[in-house]
Amino acid sequence: MTFFTNPSFNGHESIHQFHDPSSGLKAIVAIHSTALGPAAGGCRRWVYASEEDAITDALRLSRGMSFKNAMAGLPLGGGKGVIMAGPDLADDNELFTSFGRFVDSLGGRYVTAEDVGVSVDNMHAVKQVTNYVAGLPGSKDSAGGDPSPWTANGVFLGLRAAVQHRLGAESVKGLTIAVQGVGKVGYDLCKHLHEAGATLITSDVNQQNADRTKNDFGATVVAPDQILLQHADVLAPCALGAILTDESIKKINAKVIAGAANNQLADKHNGLQLRERNILYVPDYVINAGGIISVSLEYMGNKTAADTKAQIALIPPRLSDLFKSADRQSKPTNEVADAMAESIIARGNSNHSTMH
Ligand code: NAD
Repeated sequence: MTFFTNPSFNGHESIHQFHDPSSGLKAIVAIHSTALGPAAGGCRRWVYASEEDAITDALRLSRGMSFKNAMAGLPLGGGKGVIMAGPDLADDNELFTSFGRFVDSLGGRYVTAEDVGVSVDNMHAVKQVTNYVAGLPGSKDSAGGDPSPWTANGVFLGLRAAVQHRLGAESVKGLTIAVQGVGKVGYDLCKHLHEAGATLITSDVNQQNADRTKNDFGATVVAPDQILLQHADVLAPCALGAILTDESIKKINAKVIAGAANNQLADKHNGLQLRERNILYVPDYVINAGGIISVSLEYMGNKTAADTKAQIALIPPRLSDLFKSADRQSKPTNEVADAMAESIIARGNSNHSTMH
């Protein structure tokens, strides 16, 4: 399968593959759109079963970034990097300076940052060889640094807007929230929810991570194959994507789905199934934009943490408008969000063509 025939190809502008024999780096950068600005999106390090799987992931994730950046009102297009993890890789410093040279060779069409499996230290290595990178801590009050706490903050605020819409609840106090995956974002989300008086059910394939939520927040820990079945007010997917499938949707017992994971719907039609079951699905790329908001303000320079907070505060009203619009049109929330994002990107494209 090639770029154009891949089922996840969606009018992407380009795909780039890179191999560096000295570090063992095999990486892919997919650029979905630069209509609104440089294609921005994190870099994921993951063990892929095949090169095709890595390409598919990069295509899906980069399209999601275009939609996320458009909906967040950022002057950025969408792109994503993936590093195919394997046993023959050099140490992290060599690997990520090699990845940084690859990013630099794209001349600013793609700007990278952290994603799953990639740390702030890794981005420091990238920064040694290119300026097309963000997600690096600056001074105390400046925007940027690790995006995860900002993502968790935005998810918490967006989740509150969702329970208000679906349950008429003014806060999460007394609600039961099931969190799938309690890594960087999931753990921070649990902290916000616990402080606001919610009851937590958590699961993680990493037992240590799960136990931490039990000890720190009194969460009830369940096995990974049980979390989607929990009778909860909200299910918050914060692990990996494609968990909302024809099969899993039949078994979900939550009234709202609001979490950080990218690409939660296995397919677009799963959004309709959720609507038919009267489950409010909060489109992932709208609620999880806190991290990219922080990254983009850092990249633009001269911005503060207060600027980041102010932009993240716009996520809940944006979601409330989206929920109301979906109700008015009797359409699934994901379809309404996709249509909004597509029209914002199309306006960017037409501005481009009038300028040239
Ligand atoms: P992470 O790697 O720190 O955490 C993911 C956690 O999920 C890990 O603890 C892992 O053990 C667990 N996990 C994996 N498979 C699981 C399963 N089947 N059941 C239960 N737990 C499982 O990653 P993160 O940065 O917290 O990101 C979480 C999700 O949010 C990802 O989908 C990521 O793409 C998305 N996201 C993250 C950010 C960010 O700022 N970090 C921004 C936007 C979206």
